[in-house]
Amino acid sequence: MTEIRKYLEEHREEMIDFLAELVAVRSVQNDANGNCPFGKKPAKALERMLKKCEEAGFNVENVENYVGSADFSEIEPSLAILTHLDVVPEGTGWNSDPYVLKRSEGRLIGRGTCDDKGPAVASLFAMKAVRELAMPLKRGVRLIFGTNEENGSADLAYYRTKRKLPPMVFTPDGEYPVINAEKGMIRVYFSADFNDLSITSGKIINAVPEKCVVSCERHIIFLCKGKSGHASTPEKAENAITKFLYEYSRTYKNSLLCGLASLFPYGETDGKSCGLGFSDEISGKMTCVLSMLNTENGRLKGGIDIRFPLDRTLKEVSGIICKSLENIGFEIDSCEGTEPHVTDENSEFVQSLLRVYERVTGDKGHCIAIGGGTYVHEIDGGVAFGAEFPNEDGNMHGADEFITEENLIRNAEIMAEAIIEICG
Ligand SMILES: [Zn+2]
Repeated sequence: MTEIRKYLEEHREEMIDFLAELVAVRSVQNDANGNCPFGKKPAKALERMLKKCEEAGFNVENVENYVGSADFSEIEPSLAILTHLDVVPEGTGWNSDPYVLKRSEGRLIGRGTCDDKGPAVASLFAMKAVRELAMPLKRGVRLIFGTNEENGSADLAYYRTKRKLPPMVFTPDGEYPVINAEKGMIRVYFSADFNDLSITSGKIINAVPEKCVVSCERHIIFLCKGKSGHASTPEKAENAITKFLYEYSRTYKNSLLCGLASLFPYGETDGKSCGLGFSDEISGKMTCVLSMLNTENGRLKGGIDIRFPLDRTLKEVSGIICKSLENIGFEIDSCEGTEPHVTDENSEFVQSLLRVYERVTGDKGHCIAIGGGTYVHEIDGGVAFGAEFPNEDGNMHGADEFITEENLIRNAEIMAEAIIEICG
């Protein structure tokens, strides 16, 4: 057993107790309140974390309750570990109180245990281990705690107007081994006058809708069922809207709906019929999901979620999708997105992280590309490193979210080893 592992084992109870304290704060985003931009609870979780960091002897800073930080030493940081203390609402289906940490068969169950309060606690204990075992560091390290990751990351955007980020940043808010590539993302909202039918399908733009209800003069004429899923992995889901459009266009001839049916054939997920269908070697096929279609006040309103490859630009892909929609009679209400994110797999930073991962877990390290965006999507040179291990699922955002005690400790161990590898 390494000294680091031994230290963490000895501090297991302290880590778990502190995680329980953070879980007890329901740090879901709320309206701005005085000097709390995301409501009082995210600010409270941050305050609690910074106090603990200060007690451990680190130099802390609270940047107006957007973001807090803790520095290992006076040395200007070269490395930042970025976590967040806000959580998504509990939702339904829990078997225990989501805000009372439950220990059961090696699991720590509660909202935020896995995303991302557990990893935040692990990052603190990683830095404490390095400090208390008196391991010398040549370079500085900063822990950064955000409070708005789940609702658009306005925390980081603000922080970056006030402070410079270190050249190397990783976030244990994704999965191992290392996520170094993230597709570009576009969200398009469009509409047109429409009085023929009443259509209800899809409330969230980044989810594949599971149900589409269509009625005419209060009689349901179509009820299509699919399978819900995340818009970045539509091949694992079944889109109820495109199913409806397919059924509809076989018999009826409304030009808007038939136009949509031709742009979004049932079963197609890469936007080929819209003139897209791009792919690249690293991130694979792009995705293009018609995720919302609803009638409201005489308008038919739709929403599309697109994740595009690393070798395309926001401008190019936006241009193609908007033109396709305009060609069949829709107006574009908004079209916004982000460019793809890539950090060089061969950089010394990424190679160091992979080495540490291999050393601690005994498994082969490699880089992965995803369709979703992580906390470092906008940060040059940033990667996601942890906190979920391959083939493990802690029900992030779902009921009975958990992290195992072993993974809490293993995350702290990996982060401590990474600090030493990169800054020692
Ligand atoms: Zn997260």
